[in-house]
Amino acid sequence: METFKIDVDADGIALVTFDVPGRSMNTLTSKVMEELPQVVERIRSDAAIKGAVITSGKASGFCAGADLGDMAGGAFGGGAGGELDEAALKKGFDTAWKMNGTLRELETCGKPIAAAINGLALGGGLELTLACHYRVVADDNKIQLGLPEIKVGLFPGGGGTQRLPRLIGAQAALMAISEGKSFRPQEALGAGVVHAVVPRDEVVAKAKEWVKTGKAQQPWDDKGFKLPGGGPYHPAGMQTFVMGNAMLRKQSYGNYPAVLNMMKAVYEGLQVPMDAALRIETRYFVKTLLTPQAKAMIRSLFLSKQELDKGALRPADVPASDPKKVTVLGAGMMGAGIAYVQAMAGIETVLIDTSIEAAERGKGYAADIIKKRVSRGQMTQEKAEATLALIKPSTDYADVKGSDLVIEAVFENREIKADVTKKAEAQLEPGAIFGSNTSTLPITSLAEASVRPEDFIGIHFFSPVDKMMLVEIIMGEKTGQAALAKALDYVMKIRKTPIVVNDSRGFYTSRCFGTFLMEGMAMLEEGYAPALIDNVGRMTGMPRGPLEMHDDVALDLSYKIAKQTAEDLGDKYVPTPGQDIVARMVEGGRYGRKNGKGFYDYPEQKGQPKILWKGLSELAPVKVNESDDALIAELKTRLLYRQAVEAARCWEEGVVDDPREADVGAILGWGFAPWTGGPITLIDQTGVAKFVETCDRLAATYGDRFKVPQLLRDMAGKGETFYGKFGGKQAKAA
Ligand code: NAD
Repeated sequence: METFKIDVDADGIALVTFDVPGRSMNTLTSKVMEELPQVVERIRSDAAIKGAVITSGKASGFCAGADLGDMAGGAFGGGAGGELDEAALKKGFDTAWKMNGTLRELETCGKPIAAAINGLALGGGLELTLACHYRVVADDNKIQLGLPEIKVGLFPGGGGTQRLPRLIGAQAALMAISEGKSFRPQEALGAGVVHAVVPRDEVVAKAKEWVKTGKAQQPWDDKGFKLPGGGPYHPAGMQTFVMGNAMLRKQSYGNYPAVLNMMKAVYEGLQVPMDAALRIETRYFVKTLLTPQAKAMIRSLFLSKQELDKGALRPADVPASDPKKVTVLGAGMMGAGIAYVQAMAGIETVLIDTSIEAAERGKGYAADIIKKRVSRGQMTQEKAEATLALIKPSTDYADVKGSDLVIEAVFENREIKADVTKKAEAQLEPGAIFGSNTSTLPITSLAEASVRPEDFIGIHFFSPVDKMMLVEIIMGEKTGQAALAKALDYVMKIRKTPIVVNDSRGFYTSRCFGTFLMEGMAMLEEGYAPALIDNVGRMTGMPRGPLEMHDDVALDLSYKIAKQTAEDLGDKYVPTPGQDIVARMVEGGRYGRKNGKGFYDYPEQKGQPKILWKGLSELAPVKVNESDDALIAELKTRLLYRQAVEAARCWEEGVVDDPREADVGAILGWGFAPWTGGPITLIDQTGVAKFVETCDRLAATYGDRFKVPQLLRDMAGKGETFYGKFGGKQAKAA
């Protein structure tokens, strides 16, 4: 066997070491799935083996779960469109059952089996341990134990929906699975997911000790087994499902088949014995896997994201660089966040502002986040101090010397940016690069202040920097490939996901996101009730409605950008419907959440809900207050398609040219409905011809903003798709 090693000790306890060769982390590859049944059979049939302990040979963890590459590659049947024909379902069932059937054999093999969990165990990795009779985990708060499948449009299909509720109760299990939440070791112990937490170097010994006297039976195979908290027909258990259905509906708006199918699997599975329950789970799992939503989410949120994270966009001929010292100019909201993520990645950071107090305040922001990590046990005090010591607040540009990179995050003002660019560049050695975090000013024009524009690049972070995982790299006209490679090496070092785009007003993310906000404004102008617009916005799968999000972004910012765009474009400027409403809001002192007054009023008291501003009805009189299914569908289509049309325009203009960055950038950057897999996948899965037809109708009804670029018409005529025509997987990586 390649992926497992079995050593039987003098007590007859087999130590099964899971170690996939050539990989830094164990996943359930097809080889593992071929060999796991052999492991189980050996344990069951070898009379010399009295019991077994399963552990991992990797320092990185126990097992990160299924090999999603295999799944997306059609190993389970079905095509990219998610056809649900009988043959595909049968093939899928047989494949998925390999895991479920094997794990069932493991837990019923008649010998005590313990899992010695010496690192993270996620998805199928945790499910493997749940099929053991005993679980002991290393006492390390960095270890995560969880079932995160829901985040890629799936749910646990290796017994997780059946064993977890039988261990910790349906309510707790439904919450853990539907949120994809991980347990830390102590939490897992408290919840009853594991039996013991011991120092790392004792996990195997502890597991062996248990095996010597342990019972070779799962609690649920005991005749007297009672489900903790009660099953679906128990009064308390029933409540769980009634409430649970409503809660999941509220979170997902029915956009995620995985959520509904997971609920069905748990509800139905808990009413039958384990063997039947696992078959129920497998059936729903395969149905889910073959949906377009799961295929789209696995591709964008897992495979493409992983490729981008590993530098798929990096020019291969530039030698790898490792930024060790980076200066951040401006210690405001963004600069402080950037300094924090840099320090966390071990980068020596100089944080410059106009006064030392301002620079210190920026460092204080990082100190606050680090303090929280220490209090949660995610970081030792010693590490916290060492991390904070990496940030040096300063007002002196001499401190820039020796930096591999400078990130500029001062006020959004051309003159100030030009001034700090000159001052910093005067200190930079050849080979160092300069990145601007501007959100609106074209990089090519900012690079005019630079004496080395080939080293000048856009490095656009999102707020809050510590939470938002995307970084949009922007190429100015003169930006060189070496600068791009170095910027990507930096983004990889701080463990964020990069996309690379060409210069454009608003670049890619802000430009497309702006269309979502403005479509909401157009609806407001047309007389749709504000609550209706925001509710429909959330129903599309966007994180919040367009009015709420506009308030969060700040109405005055939107107003300033529109004004600047009008000035820059002159005669070519086409005003957007609803823009006047924004202007009047701002002129009336309503800037959004930041001053407590926007489309909503924000009460000063924390925890109080925001309330729609009553005066809005004077600025935008309501004509439509009621909705039906057809209207909701139309408004949803407008909100999503408007963004997708803009993404397609960005493509035609050369702002983006890789479907992976367009899709991943959309979901991670501005929260584009994750169930779609991103705007490009939305167009592909809808069918380009059908998408064009709908946009033509929308353009005729609502205006030219829905006009599709010629590229889409050409593709529609030839029956092409973006991923088919431009590739995705190997687009630039090759
Ligand atoms: P901010 O107002 O919070 O911080 C700007 C900081 O720059 C302040 O601390 C200010 O004192 C400092 N500063 C001003 N002039 C300076 C100078 N000459 N030298 C050194 N420091 C100087 O602003 P912010 O929200 O952090 O935005 C900073 C930049 O990031 C802007 O270009 C903005 O467009 C961009 N950005 C902002 C966001 C966001 O959501 N806030 C997102 C992406 C990009």
